[in-house]
Amino acid sequence: MHSKVVIIGSGPAGLTAALYAARANLEPLVVRGLQPGGLIATTAEVENYPGFVEGIGGFELADNMEKQAARFGAQFKDTLITSIDASARPFVLHTDSGEQLTADTIIVSTGASPRKLGVPGEEQLANRGVSYCATCDGFFFRGKRVVVVGGGNSALDEGLFLTRYVDELVIVHRRDTLRADPILQERAFANPKVRFVWDSTVEAILGDEKVTGVRLRNLRTGETSELAVDGVFPYIGHIPNTGIFKGLLELDEGGYILTDGRQRTNVPGIFAAGDVVDHIYRQAITAAGEGCKAAMEATWYLAEQEHAARKQPAPEAVSSPALGQW
Ligand code: NAP
Repeated sequence: MHSKVVIIGSGPAGLTAALYAARANLEPLVVRGLQPGGLIATTAEVENYPGFVEGIGGFELADNMEKQAARFGAQFKDTLITSIDASARPFVLHTDSGEQLTADTIIVSTGASPRKLGVPGEEQLANRGVSYCATCDGFFFRGKRVVVVGGGNSALDEGLFLTRYVDELVIVHRRDTLRADPILQERAFANPKVRFVWDSTVEAILGDEKVTGVRLRNLRTGETSELAVDGVFPYIGHIPNTGIFKGLLELDEGGYILTDGRQRTNVPGIFAAGDVVDHIYRQAITAAGEGCKAAMEATWYLAEQEHAARKQPAPEAVSSPALGQW
């Protein structure tokens, strides 16, 4: 299966790239990946995406973006890319089902995944009280007490969503000041269901069949204590999904893909956009903007390649370029 543009990932960056590439008649193929719609699809309410006066559900926003791209001819495929061969053109993308896709250009928009606490109990009790998605799982905690870990926008945003269901929300933060936006801080401080445990970390998640509590450590005093809870929602940042690009694309020390400001990676013909590149802004709107730029760059790149090919006397005279030299 050959495509002029393969887009890996289907969050706001990938879906916006798909919209622009489709409207440029490039018939892009979007490989949806593990989390169709990306992280935004797991967000309850999105209040800061322009154009939605009353806000919009994250799933609905992603779903609308996909339908809009499909309307202009974008194709979608539910598979995972396991490796990319960029030693010749077209690029060859291997999938987890053993299939091979080929592409003239690739837009990487694989996003980032929630960072794990890395404490005892976290893995064993995943989906048994440990969750990284309040929107998906909040309903199961009606009338319960849950812990949210972290002091950023995600912790407060998702924590406030959980207060629709839970009786008590305990936010455990490693410092005594929050990183979250003032508006979210105000809402959290004003919410009678929310209690903060400052200067503390979760040292272990307790329970056999399901979560029954957490062991906390106060970082100032060193004291440990146990708190009975039914759920734990870690919101302590993200890790970029770049495992398959190691050795192919230049990454920074945090594992994010390095681009040149025009979404171009070190490999000509491969572009990157969204949370897999950006560890500063990480907004749906900035990801969408980068997706737009990546698709426009891919369009120009393909036009240049076609122009250059027309000027070549014979195809056999063209040798395969080495990585980074095209
Ligand atoms: P974040 O802003 O990086 O915050 C992560 C939080 O987790 C910080 O409070 C950090 O503590 C804490 N933390 C990190 N590692 C930890 C560890 N090992 N143990 C305990 N605590 C730890 O991440 P985020 O909240 O996921 O937000 C990511 C980006 O998405 C941000 O740019 C944010 O603005 C954006 N976002 C925006 C919205 C919105 O606009 N409504 C909603 C969600 C996310 P310290 O503060 O001490 O570093």
